[in-house]
Amino acid sequence: MNDLVPAEGTPLLIGGKLLPGGSGVFATVDPATEEILGHAANASAADMDAAIAAARTAFDSTDWSRDHAFRAHCVRQLRDALRAHIEELRTITIAEAGAPVMLTSGPQLEGPVGDLSFAADLSENYSWATDLGTAEQMGINSRRQIRREAVGVVGAITPWNFPHQINLAKLGPALAAGNTVVLKPAPDTPWCAAVLGALIAEHTDIPAGVVNIVTSDSHGIGAQLVEDPRVDMISFTGSTRTGRAVMTGGAVNLKRTFLELGGKSAAVVLDDADIATAVSYTAFSVAVHAGQGCALTTRLLVPRAAYADAVAAAAKTMAGMRPGDPNNPGTICGPLISAAQRDRVERYLEIARAEGGRIVTGGGRPEDRSRGFFIEPTVIADLDNNATVAREEIFGPVLVVIPHDGDADAIRLANDSPYGLSGSVWGTDPERIDRVVNGIRTGTLSVNGGLWYHADAPFGGYKQSGIGREMGVAGFEEYLETKLIATPA
Ligand code: NAD
Repeated sequence: MNDLVPAEGTPLLIGGKLLPGGSGVFATVDPATEEILGHAANASAADMDAAIAAARTAFDSTDWSRDHAFRAHCVRQLRDALRAHIEELRTITIAEAGAPVMLTSGPQLEGPVGDLSFAADLSENYSWATDLGTAEQMGINSRRQIRREAVGVVGAITPWNFPHQINLAKLGPALAAGNTVVLKPAPDTPWCAAVLGALIAEHTDIPAGVVNIVTSDSHGIGAQLVEDPRVDMISFTGSTRTGRAVMTGGAVNLKRTFLELGGKSAAVVLDDADIATAVSYTAFSVAVHAGQGCALTTRLLVPRAAYADAVAAAAKTMAGMRPGDPNNPGTICGPLISAAQRDRVERYLEIARAEGGRIVTGGGRPEDRSRGFFIEPTVIADLDNNATVAREEIFGPVLVVIPHDGDADAIRLANDSPYGLSGSVWGTDPERIDRVVNGIRTGTLSVNGGLWYHADAPFGGYKQSGIGREMGVAGFEEYLETKLIATPA
């Protein structure tokens, strides 16, 4: 594929060494063509065991967690190494994740690489110690100090939809905070993680064992990481179902568990909004990267009086977004990641039909694409918020349009979901907008198209969308413990 990918397949990174997998190799597939791109090392249970041991030793026996300036230097080296290989990384991201090239100048690649600067700066500038002053207790005056310290060994488990964004949003802050890491990426995107291993080993001063990268075609290797008592924390991004398994697995040794999970977010359009803009923006966003985004607003709640027009406008936008080759700079909707994911989306479309939903546009595979896991951007109408496709995460380019009967009803519908990841509000009157913003129980909200993604902006979910926040200072602090020291004053 390119210089970052050896012909025999990408290696594991364990204890500072690039190694073959104990279980051989597994194939990585181009979702736009269904062709095998090449191979990645397939880790065995013994490989994962060695990776955890290496991370434990690096944490316990080096100065990594205490040398803030050195860590900042190392994280910047990683950022610079990624930048120096950005074109090879772009090729891999498009081919392996099916990411449209236009997204690689933003959240699919260059955005998260740049965000490493934020993590490195925090390592240097964070207030690692805070003086609480003195206090008297039972006649003893004590001076108290709070120190923040790394949690220890972090197991990072990631999905395939935004592989660099999620790998680096865990790796950057976890390392900057002083932890050591075992990264277990999704089986669908091993190269996006494995190439980090080669760059870390060959272009940074990150000590052996501080970062370990374990690719595998088995979810069981992830479960092994979750259950190992030498791992202090799991930082997980993926589905709510797997998040539940991670929480249960980590409970055996009361592991700190940080979870970024699924969503079924609502776009709330108020009756004083520019409805045409709100609808076309929302429909457009749900087709981006074939709808494989956790924070997409896949339920469009519009005033009942505007329902027919809104459905027609959403369908017009979606119909104009033909699924295409992700290498094409004009492509917004690329392929789904796999045949399994396409089956899942098609199953949901069948359920929508069976429950009385009207497929206004899309609803199947595009006729002009005989290869690749493509699905047409789809608008579903005539269902209410109780329909399966309004309740469950589909993870495809599928928008459900639902009518509401005023602001209070819209808030009720937006909140009538097990999830609480993100959402949007569209309107004109700032007071009404603010009331709706206050009423919606989610971790992120966009108002009238505002963009929330940035290195300093904490992102995460309420309810079954997760526990904790990624990015921002809050995301960095997820990887810290708090130690209180009291000394007689
Ligand atoms: P998934 O839950 O199937 O897998 C995620 C990761 O967990 C993979 O690396 C997988 O190998 C691993 N895994 C699977 N079973 C495991 C187990 N029992 N123990 C430990 N690890 C296990 O998710 P996916 O299909 O890869 O990704 C799509 C999901 O990710 C969607 O639900 C999406 O909403 C979610 N997501 C959430 C965010 C967020 O920030 N909230 C961001 C991106 C994706």
